[in-house]
Amino acid sequence: MARRSRPAVFLDRDGTLMEDLGYLGDPARAVLFPDTVPALRRLVERFDLFIVTNQSGVAKGLIRYDDACRVNERVRDTLAAAGIQIRDVYCCPHQRSDGCACRKPNPHFGRLAESAHGIDLAGSFVIGDHPADVEFAANLGARGIYVLTGHGAKHRDELAVPCAVVSGIAAAVDEVLSR
Ligand SMILES: [Mg+2]
Ligand SMILES: [Zn+2]
Repeated sequence: MARRSRPAVFLDRDGTLMEDLGYLGDPARAVLFPDTVPALRRLVERFDLFIVTNQSGVAKGLIRYDDACRVNERVRDTLAAAGIQIRDVYCCPHQRSDGCACRKPNPHFGRLAESAHGIDLAGSFVIGDHPADVEFAANLGARGIYVLTGHGAKHRDELAVPCAVVSGIAAAVDEVLSR
């Protein structure tokens, strides 16, 4: 029996769920914004949750891939302890000049979620603080929500695709649930 496809919310990590500390390799410093847990709790019944993160510090030799993964796992574990399951964490370790398929805004990881987890992309959302996050949404046929936390305020003028612009993760979840 085919599993009914579910919509997802694809979450950027740095600047969206937590402060963007720049090439973070130390899990002890992975501290979520205070409103991240209460916001994500409001999504879990209706959406599958994923983290999609570009970690170019690995390609640049500034952090080890294993350490980037340990930070991701700390975030995932912290959320799980609060009752919020992340279906998968997708991490691109490349830099732009590598021309890889998996770095946002390329749609690779969204397509992977579609095939591996039966995600309905047209009913899905991407929340992030970089223009590449909402371009990733556009490339998937999903809706992009741009947050002004992290690097959001700094890059706001570079937005090239239609998206909602909100103050942070709690307002982004309000936006998702209003659709
Ligand atoms: Mg970010
Ligand atoms: Zn990549």
